[in-house]
Amino acid sequence: MSPRSPTSSPPDRPSGSVKTAAELRERGLIEPGELIAVERVVARFAATITEELVELINPDDPDDPIAAQFVPRAEELTLAPEELADPIGDEPHTPVPGITHRYPDRVLLKPLHVCPVYCRFCFRREVVGPGTGVLAEAELEAALAYIREHSEIWEVILTGGDPLVLSPRRLGALIAALDAIEHVRVIRIHTRVPVVDPRRINDELLAALAVASAVYVVLHCNHPRELSARAAEACARIVNAGVPMLSQSVLLRGVNADADTLEALFRRLVELRVKPYYLHHGDLARGTGHFRTTIETGQALTRALRGRVSGLCQPTYVLDIPGGHGKVPIGANYIEQDGQIADINGELHEYPPHAEEP
Ligand SMILES: *Cc1c(COP(=O)(O)O)cnc(C)c1O
Ligand code: SF4
Repeated sequence: MSPRSPTSSPPDRPSGSVKTAAELRERGLIEPGELIAVERVVARFAATITEELVELINPDDPDDPIAAQFVPRAEELTLAPEELADPIGDEPHTPVPGITHRYPDRVLLKPLHVCPVYCRFCFRREVVGPGTGVLAEAELEAALAYIREHSEIWEVILTGGDPLVLSPRRLGALIAALDAIEHVRVIRIHTRVPVVDPRRINDELLAALAVASAVYVVLHCNHPRELSARAAEACARIVNAGVPMLSQSVLLRGVNADADTLEALFRRLVELRVKPYYLHHGDLARGTGHFRTTIETGQALTRALRGRVSGLCQPTYVLDIPGGHGKVPIGANYIEQDGQIADINGELHEYPPHAEEP
């Protein structure tokens, strides 16, 4: 392990990472025969893996679930006709740069398009990357002005990119600016940092989160092996600072699309005081077909989980409808066509027999 201290890392960069095909080869993460295809992949879709994650990968396991999520592969060059550049339709709901306003009471604010790692299944893979930078000062001002002018906005969701890549100083200033807007009552931050670069969760960053009273952190995490001792400690620091944590996961073939893995993931998150919030069906991002399951597979998994783990461990299985129509729950349905209710064993029951509204 390298002798980095939490405060010595440069403000806008993860502490050490692997980016190019040559570096991936050097670290034994790809085979020599993959080099040319992977060079083509990384020319099209950004790739970065933090040292933290490289240490978690077992190079002898061809099916390693961490490698599957972050190591670029030739399969990404296969584009399916149904795949889209903007799979969840953010673009039509972008009134000013950096803002996505699809639901009346909440907006996404994307202060930057940089991430500490680039997930191979990313739904924003056509817009995120190291060259895409941060919102210019004037653009950020315009985005804040938009939020100020729209008094129906109750919640601001910081996403990107990964907002915790911002320096604590800039993040704190942004949270303070949002907190100063009277109608903004809740600030939510979507991030992968506690898992992929846990050293960034230092005192300065925690102080920045504490600037506003209702800040939630939503951790993006897909496999229990991501939750290393250091990741667990980073989550504990956030929760102990009074910031509630939720998680979101993506259902991914070859990573977590089986009941045992999902059970272990959600149990571990709840043990760390992180409440599983959403399990996303894989979006139709380009070159991600090898990760996608069918909706039927996802529904069967939610049904299996319902029977075997605590309600605390049950996220809502959701689909972001392509074209910008928003997210809807698509989990198992327990009400049969004739009004009977299926229990977790599939047995049908009447409820309540012959009852009608008065
Ligand atoms: C997902 C999303 C949200 C947040 O939705 P919740 O269901 O509140 O988590 C808000 N705005 C946009 C544009 C989104 O895609
Ligand atoms: S952290 Fe989020 S935005 Fe960044 S590459 Fe992964 S899925 Fe995409």
